[in-house]
Amino acid sequence: MLRRMDIYDHPSFRMACQQFDLVADHLQMPESERARVKYPKRAVTVALPIHRDDGSVQVFPGYRVQHHLALGPTKGGLRFHPDVTLGEVAALAMWMSWKCALMGLPYGGAKGGIACDPAQLSQAELERLTRRYTQEMIPFIGPQIDVMAPDLGTNEQVMAWMMDSYSVHIGAAVPSIVTGKPVALGGSQGRREATGRGVGYLVNRATDTIGLDISKATAAIQGFGNVGSVAALSLARYGVKVVAVSDVFGGVYNANGLDLWGLEKHVAAQKTVVGFSEAEPITNEQLLVLPCSILVPAALERQITAANAGQIQCRIIAEAANGPTTPEADEILNQRPEIFVIPDILCNAGGVVVSYFEWVQDLQSFFWGETEVVDKLFRLLESAFTRVVSLSRKQKIPMRKAALALGVERVQKAKRIRGLFP
Ligand code: GLU
Repeated sequence: MLRRMDIYDHPSFRMACQQFDLVADHLQMPESERARVKYPKRAVTVALPIHRDDGSVQVFPGYRVQHHLALGPTKGGLRFHPDVTLGEVAALAMWMSWKCALMGLPYGGAKGGIACDPAQLSQAELERLTRRYTQEMIPFIGPQIDVMAPDLGTNEQVMAWMMDSYSVHIGAAVPSIVTGKPVALGGSQGRREATGRGVGYLVNRATDTIGLDISKATAAIQGFGNVGSVAALSLARYGVKVVAVSDVFGGVYNANGLDLWGLEKHVAAQKTVVGFSEAEPITNEQLLVLPCSILVPAALERQITAANAGQIQCRIIAEAANGPTTPEADEILNQRPEIFVIPDILCNAGGVVVSYFEWVQDLQSFFWGETEVVDKLFRLLESAFTRVVSLSRKQKIPMRKAALALGVERVQKAKRIRGLFP
């Protein structure tokens, strides 16, 4: 019955399953354990009716998938995007599980989403939609059950509405119900910057590993949201020249390096990188195959595919997005030893690591300074980076397989020791 899990059918879900199967073979996981470790434990679909500002009623589909319950509450972001489906959310929940396990966090993975276009909704409509979703999720969430966070299309304000809706239901402030909140509500110092900063840290470690001088490196970044924009600034601080960035509307390129502060101002005013004056236009497809030292996919899944993996001209791929590279592209990249891949579940783990710190601070009502947060973040990333590189070298396997093997094996062990329940 569990062989196919048709309800989740989606290219990203098939991709996560394919990655799991390769790693399960590598770990020689017994057939009897595979379905239990692979498939999501729970999925919730909700219909979310809200009043639009014009008085009409519109119903949006919402989802939450909780992948496994063996190690603690589930953890993962909430995505607002028109293409969100149950299957996409399931894939993202699986990746969260392996990411949390790799980083040693006491969580299973989860992900949620609402199929909507936040750019087409007013602030008041977004608030009603967020509060309605939280209300519908109340039986399935809690600080010890499932803890949400921002993802594509959501931000600190969305988390604040969620925290407020849940707290009103409980009758007391419950900051630990979500992470990525504003600091004023019990959010953590350094959470907003955590993913991008982690990308910078790991790219720097990768340049050491392959003997590339980071101060002479160039970077192209696909995606200029919270992750891509902070990754750009963080790489610039290590001396990297950021030559190209893009968003959903298109990209900009300057061989001499983009003025990132000027670009930030342009984006704040125009809501897109397109039209930035001191650069030439470039498409998202061109950006991915641009000659550069560091390519940072920081947008959606399945961007590096069999169609472009052979043409990529960088030394390091830093996967700031979740699932940016398909298994078919991996096969091509595995034949290109000149390219060093920092796989997604390691590369973008900074976000959930500081979410974990935020949750711990909220549970203790004891808050840390930014230096302490960043220091602890870098220690966890350093440990994971070292473990993945050494496994990859010892077993002569690609970085992705090594990272997934460490994550999946921890989930497998926890399930094996506990028994059939979680
Ligand atoms: N949405 C982020 C991710 O994909 C963060 C999740 C979290 O902080 O719980 O890793």
